[in-house]
Amino acid sequence: MKPTYERPVIQKLNTGLLNKFGSRTEYTPVKQIDGVSVNNLMDQYGSPLFVISEKTIRQTYQRALKAFKMRYPKVQFAWSYKTNYLDAVCNVFHQEGSWAEVVSGFEYQKALHNGVPGNLIIFNGPDKSVEDLKKAVENCSLIHIDHFDELYSLIEMLEGTSYSARVAIRVNMDTGVYPQWDRFGFNYESGQAWNAIMKIVTQKNLELEGLHCHIGTYMLTANAYAVAARKMCELAQATANTAGVKVKYLDMGGGFCSSNTLKGSYLQGVDVIPNFDDYAEAIVNTLLHFGFKPDELPLLILETGRALIDEAGYLLGSVLATKRLADSRRATVLDIGVNIMFTSFWYNHRVSPAQDFTQHAEEMALYGPLCMNIDCLRESVSLPLLKKGDRVVVHEVGAYNMTQWMQFITLRPNVVMIDTTGKVHLIRKNETVETIVENENVPDHLKVFKL
Ligand SMILES: *Cc1c(COP(=O)(O)O)cnc(C)c1O
Repeated sequence: MKPTYERPVIQKLNTGLLNKFGSRTEYTPVKQIDGVSVNNLMDQYGSPLFVISEKTIRQTYQRALKAFKMRYPKVQFAWSYKTNYLDAVCNVFHQEGSWAEVVSGFEYQKALHNGVPGNLIIFNGPDKSVEDLKKAVENCSLIHIDHFDELYSLIEMLEGTSYSARVAIRVNMDTGVYPQWDRFGFNYESGQAWNAIMKIVTQKNLELEGLHCHIGTYMLTANAYAVAARKMCELAQATANTAGVKVKYLDMGGGFCSSNTLKGSYLQGVDVIPNFDDYAEAIVNTLLHFGFKPDELPLLILETGRALIDEAGYLLGSVLATKRLADSRRATVLDIGVNIMFTSFWYNHRVSPAQDFTQHAEEMALYGPLCMNIDCLRESVSLPLLKKGDRVVVHEVGAYNMTQWMQFITLRPNVVMIDTTGKVHLIRKNETVETIVENENVPDHLKVFKL
């Protein structure tokens, strides 16, 4: 066979990768996940393919829980559904003891469908319809009120009934991290949060059970949580002193970093992010030193999302083609588009070849298969030369990709979970043309086909 001609270019090849500290890191191919062959997975379930490691979820969860439990007597995690609401994933967290944290009527239904008792569901978010609120009240769920309009519709709804609602307010505040997330909840510094608390404690159909905040996501400084915890404690204390209402819990939300590397970051994520112990230390020390009597310490709730699931998720894909760009850079085209790997807009995801290769690496762009210029997974990454048909493993894609993915020109792929014994389970089957057209409707006058 005639070899394909490629115009000669002079390009620097590296042996291994030079890191910031001058030493070269060796690439190793990733041929298996939890002992299961990547090739077998792709042969059986297709390409691209999402793979979730149940073992990694459980280990990460235990590590996070331990960091808090060692330091504080009353800790409860609530799984953030929007981070990954595949039922199998949620159920791993529920088996580990997590409550459910939901931010929409749809997610609320999903939590009920997964068998989570109503009183263990935390209902967050700015979009709760009257029907949602009714259901949440009937099921004794914890309603975290986001704004005055929601508070007033709850009051109106309960007026003259014998029902009472278990509520908290979401508080936003200055934690020294900007831009400040002040669009959710009631502001602390302006007195708005205090105003909401007073409106709640004077209503007989509302039980103020807790205070909630979620100060941001991918928080690079643990100290922001110390600042937030202090303000939450102050509100709790003022509520106890003024209204005689002792809140049962403080919910510090989520926002802990996964070890992914943010775009524009000079150092690898793992070298700069706080770990669970750092976050736990910041939050717990603030609570313990604030002045609560030991037997009156509030329950500490955490809604950490991405930090618990990112590392458990992999995306396997195949090389469709390689080419030279006009500026003689190498480009590698994969079958993974940004529509199924949404987090590539924020992260420089680590990509590993799934087969043996020579140690010669070249700077290259990684593109997806979408016919759009924005479809770029990595603008520039040093990787061993890949050729058509080669396979790759993208790391740390467990958070948000399987909820924010978009169907666009192709269909969303299979998702499998490897259980703790190494058995593979299909947990979401790939879409087909039928999945898409099922929801469409062609008016009668357009059913006559004429060319
Ligand atoms: C999204 C969200 C979380 C989870 O956030 P992470 O940054 O993934 O940890 C927790 N609580 C609320 C209210 C959220 O909206």
